[in-house]
Amino acid sequence: MAECIFCKIVRGEMPCFKMYENEYVLAFADINPISKGHTLIVPKKHFESLWEIQDEDLSAIHLASRKLAHAIRESLKPLGLAALQLNGKGANQVVMHYHLHLIPRLGGSPSLPMTEWEFKPGNRDAIRETAQKIAAAVK
Ligand code: AMP
Ligand code: ZN
Repeated sequence: MAECIFCKIVRGEMPCFKMYENEYVLAFADINPISKGHTLIVPKKHFESLWEIQDEDLSAIHLASRKLAHAIRESLKPLGLAALQLNGKGANQVVMHYHLHLIPRLGGSPSLPMTEWEFKPGNRDAIRETAQKIAAAVK
């Protein structure tokens, strides 16, 4: 897509700090890092979200995430690593080209509230009803 920032990076029309690429994916540093080593992995083809991305591109993203997770562990020795992927403006997706965030958790990193939700038991009937609704829609 002509105006998409990540398509421009893939085409080499905008700079990035590249970490890895293959036929399907490009991985580069996030320029607003949540923590040191914050990495983005994007498909080279434009897909907006998980709802559009094709099987082989999605597989390639996740295989690359494992490769980069090893590289991050070896180079930065993080305490842990969060993988985050947002779909749609309602989930705060800002760049509308599919991307997977890899966020190393290092000592002193700011908190990641999304990973710290309180465990409060839900209503089992409501949980069952919703699970059944989703299960019935699986294609
Ligand atoms: P989101 O769509 O909310 O999952 O996040 C978009 C991410 O893209 C943010 O973390 C931005 O910092 C990052 N970002 C936006 N523009 C660039 C760019 N030119 N190079 C690297 N990262 C970027
Ligand atoms: Zn794009």
